[in-house]
Amino acid sequence: MSFNVVFFGPPAAGKGTQAKIIEQKYGLKQLSTGDLLRAQVAAGTELGQQAKAIMDSGKLVSDEIVIGMIADAMDNAKKAKGFIFDGFPRTTAQAEALDKMLKERGQKIDMVLELQVKDDALLARIKKRAEEEGRSDDTVDAMKTRLEQYRNYSAEVLPYYQKQGDVMRIDGMRPVDEVTMQIEAVMGEDLAA
Ligand code: AMP
Repeated sequence: MSFNVVFFGPPAAGKGTQAKIIEQKYGLKQLSTGDLLRAQVAAGTELGQQAKAIMDSGKLVSDEIVIGMIADAMDNAKKAKGFIFDGFPRTTAQAEALDKMLKERGQKIDMVLELQVKDDALLARIKKRAEEEGRSDDTVDAMKTRLEQYRNYSAEVLPYYQKQGDVMRIDGMRPVDEVTMQIEAVMGEDLAA
């Protein structure tokens, strides 16, 4: 049986942190378009060079680039029981492309989780992460743009998934282990079903 879940939420909501914990526990593979893009930037590829300025500004890179990266990553992980999509999809075109790619594998999106965190908490987390990780888009200006982008694309992508079924809300303001417990509670029921 396969299981595919989308972790949806604003920048610094804790999607990556939770995805890494959950992937171990359930044998799923985390696919983060942000991580895949940062790897391209670090490797100095042409794609990475194209994407870097856009990422640093906080805007979205093209659908074509991220859909292509996800398609390759899924092809390279044939043995995974399923995927945790982290930071993808961010547009309807991406969501439709993902549905199509999963359908070709005889699979679908089984669950969408929305991690909810208030803006002031996100800004505080970003400041801390900037000190710890030095990400070039964790600046006040880029963060403003990233939050604006989030408001725009969540208004497009969440209704897309609400039409297909429930979007499960998770209180991302709680400590990391409590957020994990909430996710396990909703995923566990579905995986056991
Ligand atoms: P993240 O690590 O998810 O916050 O992503 C960092 C940056 O990578 C974003 O601000 C975008 O510039 C770019 N990015 C990541 N995922 C996507 C996506 N699905 N669509 C478009 N751009 C993306």
